[in-house]
Amino acid sequence: MSRAAWAWIGAISLSLALAPGAAAEPTAYLFPLRVHLGPRAEANRGWMVAQVQRANDYFGPHQVRFLWRDTVRLPASMRTIHHAASSRSFDLDARAIDVFVPDEIVGDEEMHGSVLGVTDPRRQRGAHRICIEAEEPDDVLAHELGHYFGLGHHIDAHNLMYPHSTPGTHAITDAQGAQVLRRAAGFALSGRPAPLQAP
Ligand SMILES: [Zn+2]
Repeated sequence: MSRAAWAWIGAISLSLALAPGAAAEPTAYLFPLRVHLGPRAEANRGWMVAQVQRANDYFGPHQVRFLWRDTVRLPASMRTIHHAASSRSFDLDARAIDVFVPDEIVGDEEMHGSVLGVTDPRRQRGAHRICIEAEEPDDVLAHELGHYFGLGHHIDAHNLMYPHSTPGTHAITDAQGAQVLRRAAGFALSGRPAPLQAP
């Protein structure tokens, strides 16, 4: 199956993108997501399913995919999360990608605009995590996963890694895809996080 065909099928068929039996593409990395749902996201799981599907649409053609494997209920004290909250305050599983979905992410006065997502870069110390605000646009998880896999921001407003939310579909470049794949290989070596499936 060609990469282009996979991308289209990924966009159309959620079951194919998520079913274990369909994860048979031999050269792809499949990373488990451990999703911590706040009440808003819990009440709208379809939104989260779409988030994962969009991430697979972007990174699947570059051989990196994601499976929503575990669900954890976010404690009431974390329904609002400060963007700079210490990683020590989060329940983390080093072998999965922890995605926290509070009702709201709040910031400081010096921050302009709202924060839709946060990725903690200190993954070397096992402190890696992603935070996205519930019910934000469909690219926010994919964008934060891009950071998680080492991508910086991009100046093109049509690129997934453009720093501001813009409507419509976006793209990643082949160079960005290759960078994500290299980071995936590094994660596979360290086991933090550990892909469910590796080449
Ligand atoms: Zn960003």
